[in-house]
Amino acid sequence: MIDQRLQALLMANKQKFMIPASLVATVNQSNSLDHAFLLLTKNRYAKIIVVDNKNHYCGQISLAMITEKMLGTATVNTDCLSQLVVGDVMQTDAPVVTDPEDIETNLHLLIDQSFLPVIDHDRNFIGIVTRRELLKAVNYMVHNF
Ligand code: AMP
Repeated sequence: MIDQRLQALLMANKQKFMIPASLVATVNQSNSLDHAFLLLTKNRYAKIIVVDNKNHYCGQISLAMITEKMLGTATVNTDCLSQLVVGDVMQTDAPVVTDPEDIETNLHLLIDQSFLPVIDHDRNFIGIVTRRELLKAVNYMVHNF
């Protein structure tokens, strides 16, 4: 349980906790790994959100998940990039949240995750809460207590 005075400071900029879906780079689950590889490399994000054609949240994909598929016993083989799609290699068990302002849950989960997808009850993708935004709230709290 967070002390109420600290909670109030943490929540001072709660509207900034979530980056809305419209500003988040995503990839479609049916896209080839070629496309995901290029996107991840160009935008320099470690991991990005995977959605379906109706913008439902499906999972997350990282460069490491892709390069893992490229590793043979002694060589690196890029053929798989055109043969597999994002849905074949994405991670589906990462935690998600429905309330971006639930600071207690966010703090707990962002210890191990660099961002949390925010979804609604129909699994529509709404946005992400990032470690960076939460750290800004913590920074504000420790300087204004
Ligand atoms: P940050 O805490 O800002 O470093 O973000 C943590 C992670 O969240 C990044 O490494 C990305 O995987 C993801 N991320 C942050 N902002 C975006 C964005 N605008 N679009 C897609 N992914 C993002």
